[in-house]
Amino acid sequence: MNMVAQSDIESRAACGVLTIDLAALVANYEQLCRLTAPGKAAAVVKADAYGLGVAQVAPALYDAGCRDFFVAHFIEAVRLKPHLAADARILVLNGLLPGSENDCADLGIVPVLNSLAQVANWSATAKARGTILPAAVQADTGMSRLGLEQAEADILLAEPARLEGIHVDIIMSHLACGDEPAHGANARQLARMGLVRSRFPDTKLSFSNSAGIFLGEDYRGDLARPGIALYGGAPYSGSGNPMRPVVRLEIGVVQTRTVPAGTEIGYGASFVAKSEMRLATIAAGYADGLPRHLSNSGAAYFGDVRLPIVGRVSMDSIILDVTALAPGTLKLGDMVELIGPHQTLEMIAADAGTISYEILTSLGRRYNRRYLSPAAR
Ligand SMILES: *Cc1c(COP(=O)(O)O)cnc(C)c1O
Repeated sequence: MNMVAQSDIESRAACGVLTIDLAALVANYEQLCRLTAPGKAAAVVKADAYGLGVAQVAPALYDAGCRDFFVAHFIEAVRLKPHLAADARILVLNGLLPGSENDCADLGIVPVLNSLAQVANWSATAKARGTILPAAVQADTGMSRLGLEQAEADILLAEPARLEGIHVDIIMSHLACGDEPAHGANARQLARMGLVRSRFPDTKLSFSNSAGIFLGEDYRGDLARPGIALYGGAPYSGSGNPMRPVVRLEIGVVQTRTVPAGTEIGYGASFVAKSEMRLATIAAGYADGLPRHLSNSGAAYFGDVRLPIVGRVSMDSIILDVTALAPGTLKLGDMVELIGPHQTLEMIAADAGTISYEILTSLGRRYNRRYLSPAAR
C-alpha cells in the first residue's frame, strides 16, 4: 500500500475533523504586522505552533513574510530548522542550556540569554570558535520567570567585556499582565524596560506578546512576539476578539439512545436523568484534548442547537444531551461542533475552567487534520 492511499484511509477513518485555516492564520499575521508597523512581527511557534502543527504553520508564515520565529525549547528549534529557509531566524526563549552551545552555534539558532552564566557560556563558545555569535538578551522587568535580574543587568552594563564575541541582536522582556490593560504591572514593566533599553540604545527591542500589541504604541517595540492572536485566540480578556478564527473542531456521533427518567449516565453515575432524555455519544474525550473539567459543564453544537455534556468526559468519548433535537435528527457519523462559529475557543476554555492556550496546545493527535491553504499569493 502506498503512502497516499494510507493517508486517504486515515482521513476517512478518523471520527473527528480538526480544520486549521492557514489563510486565516496569514490574515491574522498581516493584521498584527499592520498594528506593529513600523516595527515587525515575529511569530511564536512554540509547542508545535500552539498545537496546530509547526511544520505547516511556520512555512505559511514564512511565505507571508515572517522571518523571526520564537520557540521555547532548543529541541523545538532543532526540529523547526529544516522547515524554514536559511534567512529565517529561530530564537529559543527558555535560554541556552549547558551542552547545547555548539549545536546552537552550528545550526545558526539564536539563544535568548537569560542570565550572566548563559552570557558567559555563549561568549566562551564564540571565542573558542573564533567568531561572533548572535543572541537576544532578556531582562526580567517584573515577571520573575526568565531573564536577567536588575542587578545582573547592571553588572553586564558595567562590564561590557562579558559580551565579548556576542552580537546582541535583540533586547527583550515579557509582560505578565498584558491581557489586562488596566493592570498596574504593565506600566511598571514598561518603565523598567525603558531603563534597560536606554542602555542598549542601538539594539532592537522586543517586548509585546499578542496582548501587548493591543496595549498601545508604547508597548510595541521593534519586534513583537505574538502567539495566541495568530492562532485566532482573543489577545485580551473581556469582550470582543479582533482576530479571525483559525481552528474548527467537529466530532462524529458513534451512538445514540433514549433513556428513561432515573438512568445513570457515564462514569461515577455523576448525572442522573430527571426525565426521559435522548443521548448521543461522540468520539472524542480527554485523550483528544477535551478536558475532563467539561464533565457536566460544557457543550457541543449541532447547527444552532446547544447540546450539553452530561456525565463525565471519558478518555475517548463524551455523552451529549440531544433532547433539544427532534428524534432521529442525529445519525451515526453525523458531526457536532466543539470549536467553531457557535462555540469559540474562549467559550470552551471557560467551560473547562482554563484558557484558550491550554485548549489549543492539548488538541489531540487522533483527529483528521485538514489544512486550508493560504490564498495563492
Ligand atoms: C509564549 C510567549 C509569547 C507569546 O505569547 P502570546 O500571549 O501567545 O502572544 C511571547 N513571548 C514570550 C516570552 C512567551 O513565552
